[in-house]
Amino acid sequence: MTTDRTLYSQLPAIDRLLRDASFSTLLHHFGHTQVVNTLREMLENAREHIRQQEKLPSWNDDWATQAQLQLESHQRSALLPVFNLTGTVLHTNLGRALQSEAAIEAVTQVMRHPVTLEYDLHGAERGHRDRALAGLLCELTGAEDACIVNNNAAAVLLMLAACASSEEVVVSRGELVEIGGAFRIPDVMRQAGCQLVEVGTTNRTHLKDYRQAANENTALLMKVHTSNYQVAGFTKAVDEAELVALGNELNIPVVTDLGSGSLVDLTQWGLPEEPMPQQLIAAGVSLVSFSGDKLLGGPQAGIIVGKKELIARIQSHPLKRALRADKMTLAALEATLRLYQHPETLVERLPTLRLLTRNASEITELAQRLLPALESKFGEQFSVCVEACLSQIGSGSLPVDRLPSAAVTFTPKDGRGTTLSALTQALRERPQPIIGRISDGRLWLDLRCLEDEAGFMENLNP
Ligand SMILES: *Cc1c(COP(=O)(O)O)cnc(C)c1O
Repeated sequence: MTTDRTLYSQLPAIDRLLRDASFSTLLHHFGHTQVVNTLREMLENAREHIRQQEKLPSWNDDWATQAQLQLESHQRSALLPVFNLTGTVLHTNLGRALQSEAAIEAVTQVMRHPVTLEYDLHGAERGHRDRALAGLLCELTGAEDACIVNNNAAAVLLMLAACASSEEVVVSRGELVEIGGAFRIPDVMRQAGCQLVEVGTTNRTHLKDYRQAANENTALLMKVHTSNYQVAGFTKAVDEAELVALGNELNIPVVTDLGSGSLVDLTQWGLPEEPMPQQLIAAGVSLVSFSGDKLLGGPQAGIIVGKKELIARIQSHPLKRALRADKMTLAALEATLRLYQHPETLVERLPTLRLLTRNASEITELAQRLLPALESKFGEQFSVCVEACLSQIGSGSLPVDRLPSAAVTFTPKDGRGTTLSALTQALRERPQPIIGRISDGRLWLDLRCLEDEAGFMENLNP
């Protein structure tokens, strides 16, 4: 007890520390408030340390250095750049699409300057914030008009709320998807105030099912792209063109939540086929919604394209105001869409497409180049190899299709899971954390998304 008292009395007083010369740089750099808060926290920790261990913490003789470490770790951004070597190109938890240089430049411009966001230079009238992009989207998709919101979940909610509130929406049972992150079509319907009418069965839905369900309360016939799973075997779905024919006959609009959707035909690069918004517009679908940061390769956004009259309803719905995109999103999206006006250079300039189209032999060569350094660094505990693997597109796109790639793998020589988790943790603690994937008792670093080879090596040996 007496020992404890003496120990507590050896802790410094905050105002004395603040007057110490060793704190002047910290005060200058981090400011009075942050430094004092950190010192209070340290004092609390020191008292706790004495209570539990009956001795002073090891850093008691150098509060300035300890305070600096703590202040610096607090300053570490919550949005830390990482190396995505998971093999999933559009990784939702890692922020999905990387932006093109054109988009980055466009965002920087609108951040620095006032911009004509809702201002028409040719007249006194207040412009519409989606107008500039609507023109571009119409040109690319053949639609009559467009609307942009914060993400595709918002686009679906808004589309339903504006066009079918208190009315019925007919959807196939096979398309009542959950996208993840609590986005389930039946829940969104409820939130939008719509009555969901399920038709068909999980594996088979026929045109006659939609016809039987339609009545005077039906506001929409809806298709949802089952982007994150595939029903195989004895299946039947009604395609958009057939549904549009029925919709025209009954005078009910057909809408589609496309999820990802690509504005270009991906098969030209040997990638799996993904439906394109322009195909659905051409098939007569009234509204199509898709994401800005999935295959499109732009910022997080939800895009709705379609018939003028329905878009006008959407634009004037109060939820549009709540879900509208900001100027940075619109700037990045505009720059991204402009790249699609020049498709010949798209692979080069759009990072998502560049990464998706990288071929396995190029990635294998990269892996071979990195192997010697990785082996000399980790070879003692791990057998380090180059192996073929399969990358995924991610973000619920094309889940069954995999892209041949190459990885550097680390197999613990002692066969222990703890050795493997220690490596995974060590790589996550690099200045730019390296995120791989564990499978088969090995750590896999899929190199498909590694473009900064020199930065990667430097980051290994800081
Ligand atoms: C991804 C997806 C959504 C949600 O889009 P976000 O842009 O992530 O909000 C909705 N519907 C489908 C079919 C999707 O694939």
